[in-house]
Amino acid sequence: MGHVIGIDLGTTYSCMAYLIGESAKVIPNLEGAPTTPSMVSFTSSGETLIGNLAMRQAVTNPENTLFAIKRLIGRKYNSPEVSETRRRMPYKIAEAPNGDILIEVGSQLITPQEISAKILGYLKSCAASYFGEEVKDAVVTVPAHFDDHQRQATKDAGTIAGLNVLRVINEPTAASLAYGLNLKKAGAVAVFDLGGGTFDITILEINNGVFHVLATNGDSYLGGEDFDRRIVDWLLEEFRKDHKIDISPDKYALQRIKEAAERAKRELSFTQETEINLPFIGSDAVGSKHLRKSLSRSLLEELTKDLVEKSIPLMRLAIEESGLKLEAIEDVILVGGQTRMPLVRKRVAEFFQKEPNDKLNPDESVAMGAAIQSGILRGELNELVLLLDVTSLSLGIETENNGFEKIIDKNTTIPTKRTKPFTTVEHDQRRVRIHVLQGENHHASENTSLAMFDLVGISPAPAGVPEIDVTFEIDADGIVKVSARDISSGREQKILIQPSSGLSREELNNIVVREREKEAKETTSNGKKGLL
Ligand code: AMP
Repeated sequence: MGHVIGIDLGTTYSCMAYLIGESAKVIPNLEGAPTTPSMVSFTSSGETLIGNLAMRQAVTNPENTLFAIKRLIGRKYNSPEVSETRRRMPYKIAEAPNGDILIEVGSQLITPQEISAKILGYLKSCAASYFGEEVKDAVVTVPAHFDDHQRQATKDAGTIAGLNVLRVINEPTAASLAYGLNLKKAGAVAVFDLGGGTFDITILEINNGVFHVLATNGDSYLGGEDFDRRIVDWLLEEFRKDHKIDISPDKYALQRIKEAAERAKRELSFTQETEINLPFIGSDAVGSKHLRKSLSRSLLEELTKDLVEKSIPLMRLAIEESGLKLEAIEDVILVGGQTRMPLVRKRVAEFFQKEPNDKLNPDESVAMGAAIQSGILRGELNELVLLLDVTSLSLGIETENNGFEKIIDKNTTIPTKRTKPFTTVEHDQRRVRIHVLQGENHHASENTSLAMFDLVGISPAPAGVPEIDVTFEIDADGIVKVSARDISSGREQKILIQPSSGLSREELNNIVVREREKEAKETTSNGKKGLL
């Protein structure tokens, strides 16, 4: 077996690592950097640029430069998160016939999976160049709070990129592997993971190589991008006040402001005050206007305080669900670039009543943990590590009157399999509809719909008599399979779950074939592989 790479496919930056002996090492990209911007840009000359190259020309080509795709992957066009993203992004987001998302680039419509695949494909080519041989296998991380659609879509992105995704693993769990691999002492730790687009809090116990996740909670739409936006909104408002000009419709200006805002935010993690200077950002009848503002750390904290506060109740819930007392947490690990913000560190320290551990590099530890997971899968670390992860959201089915019956509770250790008996509501009812849902609400309609199928051929019987066993199975990737069985007739629906969103297997195959054909063309046209 060749090399297996661990990939942290981040909202803003991605990183990869591999296992060498018993430790993980980051693989640099083609430019020698440890992280790669998760950006893809389509130029007017038909080129596709990825990573830093895409980032460098985002200001001059904002409509065709795609970033933060992780905020869209596996989501529905009509979801509140996508509506919010749509208003903000310089690129166009359209609705697919099945309610999914498509990104409009010129005359092309591209799925988020295909765009993420371009980033993964670039990382794959960087790894190939690093090792001097093709890399096929990977472990890819996802936020713990990603639902089944988002996990499946991420896996599909890997397949489109020509990767064999051996495992999808939760980001905070991966970070804990990087933290605890060679740890000899036992204890409970909290992983606070605030990246570019998502927040996760995970509580786990580590005891001599056994990593036992006790609880995980989070918000799959809270991250550094939201902090940037607060600065962007403040700058737009200041400019409006100073010059009576609204520059928000100008996509070029907006992209410049966004980049300056993110830079200022990073600087303010190390200084108390920073200058934002954007000449010729707007104009009126009199002439060009410049944006020149100074932003202090305290103003940044005021602008973003509520975002930091959103993490507090989620931390409280995770502790409660873990069954541990706060004092039992021995170490707090910070993951994700946004945890470099001093206010974030301060609030985490106040909550846990201890200073967080900053031994891990917040940008690299997730990829390193994914590499360690690859070693577990290959049997290289079996003696050292046993990982017991959990499902982050409850799973169940819709029952009468918009009810939601949980079959697998959140925070159940995976892989797992559970069965619950159900029955009919009508006399001689011959079929039942199984509507598979994921979420925590008592009302079916408030949860995420994963799939729907019918079990037919139920033996005739009065209402309430038939026993229909519904079985849920979650595999080690956190991906769900469901089956239903009528006990009296023995009829079982070996269900092919038709995803109510996402790529069907056929669509996925078509994309994979198209991508491989494209690759083959690039290879044969001049005998060499084209660089991205
Ligand atoms: P990640 O997804 O872990 O790569 O996190 C990326 C996010 O971290 C982006 O929103 C960055 O703007 C943010 N970030 C990186 N460095 C810093 C820093 N020094 N201070 C504040 N935020 C940062």
